[in-house]
Amino acid sequence: MPNIFPSIHPLVAHKLSLLRDKNTEHKKFRELIHEIAVLLTYEATSDLILHEINLDTPLARTTAKVLSEKVCLVPILRAGLGMVEGVWNLMPTAEVWHIGLYRDENSLKPVEYYKKIPLEPDVSVCLILDPMLATGGSAVATVDILKRWGIRKIKFVGILAAPQGIENLQSHHPDVHIHLAGIDDTLNQRGYILPGLGDAGDRQFGTG
Ligand code: URA
Repeated sequence: MPNIFPSIHPLVAHKLSLLRDKNTEHKKFRELIHEIAVLLTYEATSDLILHEINLDTPLARTTAKVLSEKVCLVPILRAGLGMVEGVWNLMPTAEVWHIGLYRDENSLKPVEYYKKIPLEPDVSVCLILDPMLATGGSAVATVDILKRWGIRKIKFVGILAAPQGIENLQSHHPDVHIHLAGIDDTLNQRGYILPGLGDAGDRQFGTG
């Protein structure tokens, strides 16, 4: 599938299995979300543009490469919050933008309740962070908002996806690259991914 990048890294597969296990307790679950987010972001940023600069090492003058692109992280609240810290450590100059959407229990459609992003965004690439790409409604709505704000290079960094979520995001935004630790079978009637890992928010924040 074009623009879908399921990780084939053994560390990601191993950590995903631990994440799925219902006996994995909250602290360990949070650590795994953090670690997988870093590994997937490493893969998702492999095409960031570089430019050359001149600098002095302790021994000689040389040319070296630095990032040209300014990145922003957009965690989908609340489960995406657990992915921010590790990714931010990797790219400490990234901005973090907050867009709050919740899923209406009946329609399963996203409802926007909070948005805090700069008046004149000057970033060139946004990484949307959300562990679960279930129906894809929140992801599509978030990309809609970011595109309205003029962002052209958008990537979705998730952990697990259902085919329905991938199909929804791809059909609305075929240009968005989707980076995942795994792709599961389907959704249940409540919009949960099967076999999945349960509620990624509850399992991180101890509310389940
Ligand atoms: N959100 C979750 O936390 N889990 C799912 O399976 C689907 C959406």
